Amino acid sequence: MKFAIVAEHFEKLEETTKRLEMFEILSQLFKKTPHSDIDKLIYICQERIKPAYEGIEIGMAERMLEKAIARATGTDIKKVKELYKKKGDLGLVAEALSGKFKNKLIKPKELTLAEVYDGFLKTAKVSGVGAVDQKISIIAGLLSRANPKEAKYIARFVIGRLRLGIGDPTIMDSLSKAKIGDRGLREKIERAYNLCSDLGFVAKTLFEKGEKALDKFKVTPGKPIRMALAERLPSSKDIIKKIGKCAVEAKYDGFRLQCHKVGNKVFLFSRNLENMTHMFPEIVSEVKKLRQKNIIFEGEALAYNDATGELYPFQVTITRKRKYEIEKIAEELPLRMFVFDLLYVNGKDFTPEKYITRRKKLESIFKKGEILQPSAMIVTDDPKEMEKFFEQEVSAGLEGVMAKRLDAPYSAGARNYNWIKLKRSYRGELSDTIDVVIVGYLKGRGMRAKFGIGAILVAVYDKKEDVFKTIAKVGSGFSEKQWVELREMLDKIAIKHRPARVDSEIKPDVWVEPKYVITVRADEITRSPLHTAGKTEKEMGYALRFPRAVEFIRFDKTPEDANTVNEIKKMYKMQFEH
Ligand code: ATP
Repeated sequence: MKFAIVAEHFEKLEETTKRLEMFEILSQLFKKTPHSDIDKLIYICQERIKPAYEGIEIGMAERMLEKAIARATGTDIKKVKELYKKKGDLGLVAEALSGKFKNKLIKPKELTLAEVYDGFLKTAKVSGVGAVDQKISIIAGLLSRANPKEAKYIARFVIGRLRLGIGDPTIMDSLSKAKIGDRGLREKIERAYNLCSDLGFVAKTLFEKGEKALDKFKVTPGKPIRMALAERLPSSKDIIKKIGKCAVEAKYDGFRLQCHKVGNKVFLFSRNLENMTHMFPEIVSEVKKLRQKNIIFEGEALAYNDATGELYPFQVTITRKRKYEIEKIAEELPLRMFVFDLLYVNGKDFTPEKYITRRKKLESIFKKGEILQPSAMIVTDDPKEMEKFFEQEVSAGLEGVMAKRLDAPYSAGARNYNWIKLKRSYRGELSDTIDVVIVGYLKGRGMRAKFGIGAILVAVYDKKEDVFKTIAKVGSGFSEKQWVELREMLDKIAIKHRPARVDSEIKPDVWVEPKYVITVRADEITRSPLHTAGKTEKEMGYALRFPRAVEFIRFDKTPEDANTVNEIKKMYKMQFEH
């Protein structure tokens, strides 16, 4: 397929402000795509080259792209830089300078989707001496053959600024529509995606081998499984009422890891399914020692004080993320991992098995007192006993407990009542934090005006509609330095109009692609006519009272991982019940 067709559709996607239109445009594009290329297109739509867990980055900085544009279009680098200053978007610079083939006798051959994708992949794979120059030449090669529209999207893609804001749910719906004319295959596509975390591969299987092939998808060691997530309830009584006799585990505030051992290879994946293997060498060596040849399990990794045995909070555990000398930190802050689920052992998929069966197997493999040890757990149908366990864990400095339905399978990629979290903070005031997506910013007056950003407009996720709905304006919680940094980051993902997947009645000064998640704390959830979260023709929306940011960007969460409108409704009700 000609890349020009992709570029035309991307332009339509960029212009639309309606999520339904986005779905239509995307499904038309998928329908036109040859089966052999659909995976490539899916990765490009996800703004990646391969699924996240492969950790393949293109590694192009703005300066390299400027050089590639200059080289491809025969423009002086100074002029490229000047234009960039004027336009603020290297995509637009590439568009303005490209496609003027007038000096050439023969017009270059039109680019295909496969050629563009292969160029991206090749760029990502070059390394070592001379890599920078090689990357520049590959991209310049593509740009020199591109028409202006194509050049715009190639340039934006290579520096990670495609800004189409598509999102996996829209891709899945559109794939279904392209294949059968409606959304009927969404569930099957999602199931397959949950098991392998590779939407390109799922799409290709569907297009090449049909619907039946999707049903045959299995758990495969080495490919991360999308993680099961928990609902919340306000008290132990509510939990027992909901799921009866259940397992209650300590809730550790560490770094969630899904560990895969395939022969003598080990892979560790984060909650966001990124490959984190390099960050936890001591966990890798423990996993290697396991007797099982192939195994997948999940747990929470935490740093602890070797002298006192005390567990450190999340912030301490992740210091190693920012430092280069991981080995040294591993010595200063040794890790322990509390294993809480077992998904696969030597050819047997445990995900359909009951919790209690998985746990039994888990306890036969992992032993107390070791670096990899089972999470603390009791089984009870007595709210008082759960309460006692909760108090004991909280006074030991933990976050709370996780109750788990005894006969439930591992629900990959889903949030439901098979797991229920109970945190100290749910009792009484709304002190549990909320994860929201930034959809725009307001310039602000007074003090803050000097930074050009006074508040951010934030939204929660409406899963049913696959749309982000506003819930608050957040103007506090960040340091001055963070505001400046935030504004720079947001300007890079700014869009001219309201993004198609954002529903808002407030118009910020600058709209941005829904991309960054932040965690906020608020005094309470109120009803408000200003916000669209939960708003219907008859009812007002929900809003946060006195929201303030408690953390900078949550890079471990995608926009669809933000709290949902439904969760907000439940949290709103919980405020009155306790
Ligand atoms: P979520 O991961 O549900 O989107 P979140 O990132 O805000 O939400 P929490 O609300 O604190 O996290 O709770 C869920 C997380 O708790 C899990 O993703 C996991 O990392 C962690 N966790 C700690 N202990 C356990 C346990 N025993 N069983 C399952 N998860 C646990």
